[in-house]
Amino acid sequence: MNDWLPFRRLALLGFGLIGSSLARAARREGLAERIVCADRSVNVLDVARRLDLVDEAHADPAAAVAGADLVLVCTPVGAYAEVGQAIAPHLASGAILSDVGSVKQVAIRDLGPLVPEGVHFIPGHPVAGTEESGPEAGFADLFRDRWCILTPPPTAGEAAIARLAGFWQRIGSRVEVMDARHHDLVLAITSHLPHLIAYNIVGTADDLETVTKSEVIKYSAGGFRDFTRIAASDPTMWRDVFLNNREAVLEMLGRFTEDLAALQRAIRWGDGETLFNLFTRTRAIRRAIIDAGQEEAAPNFGRRPKGAVRKD
Ligand code: NAP
Repeated sequence: MNDWLPFRRLALLGFGLIGSSLARAARREGLAERIVCADRSVNVLDVARRLDLVDEAHADPAAAVAGADLVLVCTPVGAYAEVGQAIAPHLASGAILSDVGSVKQVAIRDLGPLVPEGVHFIPGHPVAGTEESGPEAGFADLFRDRWCILTPPPTAGEAAIARLAGFWQRIGSRVEVMDARHHDLVLAITSHLPHLIAYNIVGTADDLETVTKSEVIKYSAGGFRDFTRIAASDPTMWRDVFLNNREAVLEMLGRFTEDLAALQRAIRWGDGETLFNLFTRTRAIRRAIIDAGQEEAAPNFGRRPKGAVRKD
C-alpha cells in the first residue's frame, strides 16, 4: 500500500452529492494531480467552478475522460448506458473505469459491454450517503469509516483492483470485494427495502383522510419523522435503484410482507410473546450496528431538544 501513487487525472461523471464529495476528499488527500468533472446540468458545472472543487468542469463527458487514468461514473444508474456510449471511444488504455452506483449488476449490464480492450472495469459502491443531493451537499468526510464494496468481474486484474481499493482507503473507507449479484441482494435488505418502506409510510400518512396533515407533522416525533429523513432522498436516484434491482427488491419485499402478516396476526390474537421476542431481537441488531461503528449511541439519533445545552 506504501507504493501507491496518485492518479494523474481523475474524471468524475455526474457531480452531485457523491461526485462532489469524492472531489473534495481526493483533493484533500492528494489522490490525483488533476480532478475534472462532467455533468449535464449547467447549474452544477457553475457550482463546481464557483466552489473551486475541480480543475476542469465539462458539459461533455468525453472531454472529461480524455487522458484520465481513473474514471468514476457518479450519475444515477439509469443514465449508465447513455454515459457509457458517450465515453467508451475516449477512454485511455490502462485507465480504471469504476462507478459509485447503488446497484451493481446494472453497471455490469449497461457499462460492461462498452468497455474497450485495455481498460480495467471495476464497479464499486460506497455505502455512504445522505438524503441530500447536488454538489453543494457534498463533504470530504462522507466516506470516512464507511464501507466501499467493489464488484470486479472475474477478468479484472489484481493490480487494478488494489489500486482502486487504495484510492478508497485513502479517503477513509474500508473496502470489501463482493460478487455483484450478492451485493444487490444484501443492499436490497439493508438499503433499498428500508427506503421503499419509508417512501410508503410517508405516502400513506400523506393520503390519510381521518388524520390531518398538520397532525401528522405536529406529532411526527413519535417515530414518523425518522422515516421522513429517508423518504426525502433523491427521487431520480431511487426510481433508478428500484427499476434496476427489481429481482432482489421483490424477493426481500416478499419476505417482508410475510413477516408483516405474522405481526398483524400476533396483534390480532393478542400474542404479546411474539411481539416482545421480536422487539428484543431487533434491539440487539441496533446495538451491533453501534458496536461496529456504523452509528452513534446517542439517544434520539443524537438529536437534542431545541435549546438544550450539551454538558460534555
Ligand atoms: P445527485 O446528487 O442527484 O447527483 C447526480 C448528478 O448526475 C446530477 O448532477 C445529475 O444531473 C447528473 N446526471 C444525471 N444524468 C446524467 C447524465 N446522463 N450525464 C451527466 N450527468 C448526469 O446524486 P448522488 O446522490 O450523487 O448519486 C449519484 C450516484 O451515487 C447514484 O448512482 C447513486 O445510486 C449512488 N449513491 C448515492 C448515495 C446517496 O446516498 N445519495 C450513496 C451511495 C451511492 P441532473 O440534476 O441534471 O439530473
